Amino acid sequence: MKTVQARRASAKLVARPVAYLDNNATTPLSAAALERMQELLQALPGNAASMHRLGVAARDCLEQARARFAHHLGGTAQILFTSGATEGNGLCLLGALRHPANRCEQLVVSELEHSSVYDYLELPPERPVVACKALASGIPDVDHLEQLVAGRRSLVSMMHVNNETGVIFPLADIAEIVHRHGGLLHVDAAQSVGKMALGEVLRHADALTLSAHKFQGPLGVGAIAVLRRQFQLAPVIAGGGQEGGVRSGTVNVPAIAAAAVALEEAAAAPAPGPELRDDLEAFVERCVPHCLVVGRGAPRLWTTSYICFPGLLQEDLIEALSVRGVHAGTGSACNSALHESRVLRNMGIERLYNQGGVRFSFSRCTTRTALQRLVEVFPAAYADAMERSPYR
Ligand code: PMP
Repeated sequence: MKTVQARRASAKLVARPVAYLDNNATTPLSAAALERMQELLQALPGNAASMHRLGVAARDCLEQARARFAHHLGGTAQILFTSGATEGNGLCLLGALRHPANRCEQLVVSELEHSSVYDYLELPPERPVVACKALASGIPDVDHLEQLVAGRRSLVSMMHVNNETGVIFPLADIAEIVHRHGGLLHVDAAQSVGKMALGEVLRHADALTLSAHKFQGPLGVGAIAVLRRQFQLAPVIAGGGQEGGVRSGTVNVPAIAAAAVALEEAAAAPAPGPELRDDLEAFVERCVPHCLVVGRGAPRLWTTSYICFPGLLQEDLIEALSVRGVHAGTGSACNSALHESRVLRNMGIERLYNQGGVRFSFSRCTTRTALQRLVEVFPAAYADAMERSPYR
């Protein structure tokens, strides 16, 4: 039997057309964003912190992008640029715990968070860190949240849309509990900004983080939007004091300006409906009637379909699809030989299903052609993956 590496190497030689169905991992850069970035990379060599005129020009460009982000995030948001949502989440958690004015006694995160939030359960904390349980539907258990925050001023971090399942969290309920107990709510909105209307998160979060490469902006750019003044951030790394003294480091002006273009494009276009996702699920269920569509009972965004195929391993199906030009993903794999999603495990999904979980995710530029390609290759890919299954 060929190793995964050997199969990957031979995959380079194989077949097009390509169907990219891993948009929750990253989206293709939009043409307008690329054009803006190229233009500025050539025309604007200045460091936005320099005093000379090129520096002033870079600073103007940066502040214009900041104003454009603020405009799309409620008008009064204070925007701090970061390198992405991983950094933004870390800065929001550690920076808010560290700032004395917030007076947070503990950090509460849900069991469903991305590792850039969840793993603070394991890292040396500034304050106690506790996990809020998940329900089988893929949302946090708000009754448990209430028990955790009662009587303790808490910083709570919960995501808007789950990156693995596409399930939309009940932010109004979460915020009501957090705020009634005097706490602060940070929302990881990496999978919702640029993909849906943001009214709810802007109404309820005290701060949010986003990442430009999730909405067809460049990789390596993100932002924190501080939505309420009572959410204060202390710096967590030392340096030149950029971004209001909170996030030191030379800012990437061309990429930030390109991210603003991508955000405007995303906000201007109507969000796609769930038709592609639903058609994909209907097709896959016809092929494999015993598969499990994760989170189907809960409100889910059009971007995501996570389907478990009991009896095969996710890596085998992903490879068998990929070699045929269809690129799907997983949520996030842990390091064990047999991959399992922590998010699905916390939703109570049993191992046999979890190990065969594959995520299909869409962007605004995903077309029916991608689905057509999947329809053509899925039966053979599934048969290949079953052939390799250790459960046979
Ligand atoms: N949070 C969520 C919900 C995500 O989906 C991701 C990206 N997978 C991140 C945080 C990290 O984002 P970035 O790649 O910008 O660091």
